[in-house]
Amino acid sequence: MSSNIVAILYLLSALLFIFALRGLSHPESSRLGNIFGIIGMIIAVITTLMFKSVLSYTEIGIAIFIGGSIGTFIAFKIEMTALPQLVAAFHSLVGLAAVFVAAAAFYDPSSFNIGEIGSIKKSSLIEMSIGTFIGAITFSGSVLAFGKLQGTISGKPIVFKFQHFINLLIFILIVFLIIYFVFDQGPSIFWSIVLISILLGILVVLPIGGADMPVVVSMLNSYSGWAACGIGFTLSNNLLIITGALVGASGAILSYIMSKGMNRSIINVVLGGFGGEQSIDNSEQSEDKIIKQGSAEDAAYIMKNAESVIIVPGYGMAVAQAQHALREMADLLKQEGIKVRYAIHPVAGRMPGHMNVLLAEANVPYEEVLELDEINPDFPMNEVSFVIGANDVTNPAAKTDQSSPIYGMPILDVEKSQTVLFVKRSMATGYSGVDNELFYRDNTTMLFGDAKKMCENIVKELGK
Ligand code: NDP
Repeated sequence: MSSNIVAILYLLSALLFIFALRGLSHPESSRLGNIFGIIGMIIAVITTLMFKSVLSYTEIGIAIFIGGSIGTFIAFKIEMTALPQLVAAFHSLVGLAAVFVAAAAFYDPSSFNIGEIGSIKKSSLIEMSIGTFIGAITFSGSVLAFGKLQGTISGKPIVFKFQHFINLLIFILIVFLIIYFVFDQGPSIFWSIVLISILLGILVVLPIGGADMPVVVSMLNSYSGWAACGIGFTLSNNLLIITGALVGASGAILSYIMSKGMNRSIINVVLGGFGGEQSIDNSEQSEDKIIKQGSAEDAAYIMKNAESVIIVPGYGMAVAQAQHALREMADLLKQEGIKVRYAIHPVAGRMPGHMNVLLAEANVPYEEVLELDEINPDFPMNEVSFVIGANDVTNPAAKTDQSSPIYGMPILDVEKSQTVLFVKRSMATGYSGVDNELFYRDNTTMLFGDAKKMCENIVKELGK
């Protein structure tokens, strides 16, 4: 295929990827965005396979078959609630791929047209070592993030003395090694960069925990984009450079938006551990506090007699897959003339946009779904807040308790409503491990049970 045709097809793919990102920025256009992305990727893959430099279709076919089968199997098996850790796991593979491609180019430079062993072009060595550095950090950081999200490693921040200073020293050491590698081209230096970057990835993610994890997940998403961009330079593949940069830049923007939403400085989150040092669990102290408990019947009665209800969904709604039953409940309330809206916190659930996706799946009208800034001023005028499987995102400790790991994070002001109904299974804490004093307030009624079952029971009561 002539290089002009390749350039045009790659440009077309790049444009489709940009349209895909544009489409994904709103729930209504997200399906179309996905379709643009799929078409762009098909064009990109077919164009790349047409390269004269492709040596063996058999090996590529076998690799696509194995990778595709594993991917399809995972896609069918995966629970919605496990998606964040799956995304983290996939990011780690992108990072690893960047390291492997750089290693392949280093050991067989002539195949990549970047010189000969021992006399590789300096510019290629710089690209290769930076790609390796970002790839290795992405790999180990994502593996650790996977462990924290999966629960195999404690989600609490792990902090120690001089942490930031040590990270800084390691970073300076890596910069020094990269410069040395460019002149020396020694394999031991290359692998030292890989190993020390892996260590840095672990040290950077280790102190981050609790409520700051979402920002880290999107940061790693951004890193994986830059790692892919690095592979693009090594392979001299313009489309990979563009695609990597798109993922890297959009991930960085998302991280910025999320850290702003969490009232955190992005630099602090990246350096790790700020605001998370004293992860406390007050559950013991709360044993003697009094709570008010209600039933589906009580909830139906309270909401039926209200003028306005704000639904606050959280991770528990995703676990219970309660969105359809919830919409049914909301429909019945609306039929009674009650104003129903949904309040979405930027980090509710376990991945960005988690709640929006679930509510869209249940065909909740977009205009009823409001973001934190839009809905917060309305809570004082609101009669009933129906909190379903959300916890951290409603915790007033974020506003009042400076020692709390979630201090400073904006929350949904549900406690300002006349009545708060809390649907959850127990008195357990949320992701950040912090007790929620809202459970003990006079205007709160706890509705213990699975979120889906509770909604179904309320629907039955409303229908009576
Ligand atoms: P939380 O994790 O704070 O709380 C969820 C609550 O749901 C739990 O307290 C749990 O209580 C309840 N729950 C679990 N299963 C069920 C069920 N089947 N039925 C009813 N309730 C259930 O969730 P939030 O959405 O309020 O906050 C998200 C948290 O996750 C934040 O701390 C955020 O920082 C963090 N996070 C967010 C990410 C993102 O990108 N959005 C990524 C990583 C972390 P019980 O066990 O008693 O039922």
